[in-house]
Amino acid sequence: MTKRIAVLTSGGDAPGMNPCIRAIVYEAEEKGVEIYAVKRGFLGLLDNDFSPMQVKDTSGIIQRGGTILRSARCEEFKYEEAQKEGIKNLINNNCDGLIVIGGDGSLRGASAISDRGVNVIGIPASIDNDIYGTDMSLGVDTALNNIVEVIDKIKDTASSHERTFIIEVMGRGSGYLALISAITTGAEAAIIPEVEYDLEKIAGRILERYKRHKTANIIVVAEGASTGYQISRKLSKIANIISKITVLGHLQRGGSPSSFDRLLGSRLGSAAVNRLLQGESSVMVGIVKGKLKTTSFDDVLGKKKDFDENLIKLAKTLGK
Ligand code: ADP
Repeated sequence: MTKRIAVLTSGGDAPGMNPCIRAIVYEAEEKGVEIYAVKRGFLGLLDNDFSPMQVKDTSGIIQRGGTILRSARCEEFKYEEAQKEGIKNLINNNCDGLIVIGGDGSLRGASAISDRGVNVIGIPASIDNDIYGTDMSLGVDTALNNIVEVIDKIKDTASSHERTFIIEVMGRGSGYLALISAITTGAEAAIIPEVEYDLEKIAGRILERYKRHKTANIIVVAEGASTGYQISRKLSKIANIISKITVLGHLQRGGSPSSFDRLLGSRLGSAAVNRLLQGESSVMVGIVKGKLKTTSFDDVLGKKKDFDENLIKLAKTLGK
């Protein structure tokens, strides 16, 4: 019978982690189970940085971005020795289950621990939205809202001055943020790693728009496809188009989690506790087609999340 669960946040922080931690603590308290917080991800697991956490410790965190447990990167944890040390600390603190909230790398760490016999449940948190087994990961919706807010503002000035703006957004391996923010801001083009792009065609469209006195041109670039500077230089070379570049960087990840991310974090946190109590392990909890679903770590880490082709078609239609 599980009596004490450890929880940690790891890798890139994502808005929605705090509502998720809060739900874990509430659900555990309801079920008569203790929660031990591990600070700074796997680094805290190695440093034995455990402390009890109760509902009273979660007051005021639902609306806070980032993670109150702090996050860190810990290269060492990729190696057997560190993993064994982490498990030793879990056992010494009488924790018989672990919840890991994080992205692909963190879920690899979670999987490595569960392979060594510890009951572990993963929760997807990554603004790139590239984790298999869930339609949305924690932080994606808030990041999108942040991006859309900035692009809307840039469009105001772009249309006043006949300018082309290039907005570089996060997404090393995935163009989800770029594609959705392009669709939802009425941008002229999205450059993403999943689809080959033709800059001459994009340049031609911009020139055509200038002729029609359509002054505001927005191109959203996912960092995994190119950089704002490269696209700007090439547009200048191809068609003499002068563009301004905005690199959104960490602005995208900050701020209060959206209502969607608060709900997602709450649902996944509560589900993770219940799944552990039901004896499940080596799985990630996610939401697929609106319903809670668990997916094995093997599938989460071995399969590639499909990119919705219909969204690409829609972006092409709306970007004309
Ligand atoms: P994210 O979880 O956001 O993808 P990282 O890829 O940086 O972020 O991973 C976060 C941490 O997860 C790493 O610093 C490391 O501690 C752990 N980790 C990453 N890959 C592995 C792996 N293959 N095996 C064990 N632990 C890993």
